[in-house]
Amino acid sequence: MAKKQSFADKSSKRAHTMTCPVCNESKQFIKYIKAVKGEKGAWKFRAVNVGVCKCNSAEIYG
Ligand SMILES: [Zn+2]
Repeated sequence: MAKKQSFADKSSKRAHTMTCPVCNESKQFIKYIKAVKGEKGAWKFRAVNVGVCKCNSAEIYG
């Protein structure tokens, strides 16, 4: 357990690059504009930082 935790600490310090545990590719962080539907049915746009890798690049870039 202790060994696992120290590994997590090390990887969390690398703020700008993150490796995806699923595809093992480094994630690229981009600002992504997300459309969110509000309570009254109006669309709002929200900018979020997302990590893009092989798993979700098709979803993000279309
Ligand atoms: Zn991935």
